Amino acid sequence: MYTLGIDIGSASSKAVILKDGTDVVASAVVQVGTGTSGPGRVLEEVFSNVDLTQEDMDYTVATGYGRFSVENADKQLSEITCHAKGIFHLVPSVRTIIDIGGQDAKAIQLDAKGNIQKFVMNDKCAAGTGRFLDVMSRVLEVPLDQMGKVHFQAKEWAQVSSTCTVFAESEVISQLSKGLPRESIVAGVHQSVASKACSLAYRIGVKNDVVMCGGVAQNAGVVDAIEKELKQSIIVAPHPQITGALGAALMAYEELMKANK
Ligand code: ADP
Repeated sequence: MYTLGIDIGSASSKAVILKDGTDVVASAVVQVGTGTSGPGRVLEEVFSNVDLTQEDMDYTVATGYGRFSVENADKQLSEITCHAKGIFHLVPSVRTIIDIGGQDAKAIQLDAKGNIQKFVMNDKCAAGTGRFLDVMSRVLEVPLDQMGKVHFQAKEWAQVSSTCTVFAESEVISQLSKGLPRESIVAGVHQSVASKACSLAYRIGVKNDVVMCGGVAQNAGVVDAIEKELKQSIIVAPHPQITGALGAALMAYEELMKANK
């Protein structure tokens, strides 16, 4: 039996094909999200990796900000449900999830059985999300996938104190023009994102283990800044950008099992 999970976010489109509710047989990520060619392209890509088509899928669940735009989905579920499902499957010791995506950030608390106990979300402001990092990467002229590496070159972390992305951009430009080392500003940018993510986590209560997911979890600098803020180590989910799509494929399998009972 095959199930498909599709996660259409604001910044990227992800898909996972699962066999019999356990084995990931294919996955794909396209770095553009809802309202773009991303949803169509991610399906093309995931099916090009295996000898399967949409007709072979026994159940499809769509999640993410753009989930209602997915044709062929049997059901739509929230990202909170799907991230929780995907992360608990990968790391059953998880009790706190920090998810930072393209235009939102969430903290989710789970119990020992993986049930969602509490969650909080920032989807009102770009600060503390991937969007903030995308803007800063452009201003700092450091490619996104190099931000983590540059972070660890910093001897000191600059202070990025503006709470608004637009003002923070001006603040960073001013720091650059004053000659502050680029790597210190990169680390300061990461600290700013980390402090916002941690304030979400503090609101629900930080319980171990803490697992981070979402595209921003690929930035080792943000992970480091979160660990410094929480004063403890955290676990980065394997393939952190596709945990929502994995959770959607797992939920699809559960739906099939319910229907076949
Ligand atoms: P969404 O699900 O909301 O579309 P994602 O979870 O895919 O968003 O996260 C997108 C964000 O992840 C981007 O805004 C970017 O900041 C970050 N990101 C994506 N790829 C990388 C990478 N290779 N290295 C560092 N950060 C990345």
